[in-house]
Amino acid sequence: MTARYAVVGHPVAHSKSPLIHQAFATQLGRVLSYETIDAPPGDFAHVVRQFRQTGGAGLNVTVPYKQEAYALAEQVSPRAEQAGAVNTLAWADGPLTGDNTDGIGLLRDLTHNQRLTLAGRRLLVLGAGGAARGILGPLLEAGPAAVQLVNRTAQRARDLAALFRPLGPVAGGGWEDAAGEGAWDLIINATAASLEGQVPPVPARVVTDRTVCYDLAYADGPTVFLQWAQAAGAARVVDGLGMLVEQAAAAFVLWHGVRPDTAAVIEALRR
Ligand code: NAP
Repeated sequence: MTARYAVVGHPVAHSKSPLIHQAFATQLGRVLSYETIDAPPGDFAHVVRQFRQTGGAGLNVTVPYKQEAYALAEQVSPRAEQAGAVNTLAWADGPLTGDNTDGIGLLRDLTHNQRLTLAGRRLLVLGAGGAARGILGPLLEAGPAAVQLVNRTAQRARDLAALFRPLGPVAGGGWEDAAGEGAWDLIINATAASLEGQVPPVPARVVTDRTVCYDLAYADGPTVFLQWAQAAGAARVVDGLGMLVEQAAAAFVLWHGVRPDTAAVIEALRR
């Protein structure tokens, strides 16, 4: 029987996950089905239960259900615990197990695909929502000199920074704290502003000609944040498509025990 996988979200029709997982499967000579499941509000737990009972093998979870998946899982990995969110569910014949591959997906895109060094570098992270929480742990574990978190709701950034302070040098605040005490090596936009065609209101002078700007969001062309960063003179701009493929690859490893070649899939999606 063909192994069945799916991504659950609301809305989810736009998801590239089916394409990515099918590309991985083709590459590795495996046959699987991967669908999108739009779960109306209040229906997430039911959808997971039903998918599992009808022979489903694993699920990805996207907006707005990552926190609900964390609560539903019978056991979670340390990185899902750290993120307080789950984007991958697996069960085999055992308990419903939650993991979170967003943070390691970003790290792999930054360090492997983009060849960036994070140790000793100064990082500015815009946003303090679910994605920011998911990436903070892996970013701090990479040993940066400083991580400044800034958010529209400043208190949310302060609270998140306080939660992660045991892992490394992280501070939280409002947009006014984006100026910092020196140039930023990397600015990561982890807000949902790009989805609304907006750029977080940080001054263009936070970008220098040695700053790499990364947007977790992705689009057919450069996002508004990346256009802004380019105009501000950034050394390089990168969107979140690589992270998307890398987090999918990490989920693929969890389910199938084998790592696909992500570079080929990123290139195909860009085309
Ligand atoms: P979320 O939990 O809803 O958090 C949204 C964040 O964006 C909050 O910090 C919010 O500030 C801020 N925000 C929203 N609208 C804004 C605006 N107009 N101006 C400034 N700040 C704004 O969302 P999320 O799950 O963290 O997702 C954030 C982004 O990451 C999305 O673009 C998502 O697509 C992307 N993402 C990409 C990947 C990938 O694989 N590439 C994976 C995960 C997420 P407040 O706290 O003040 O509300």
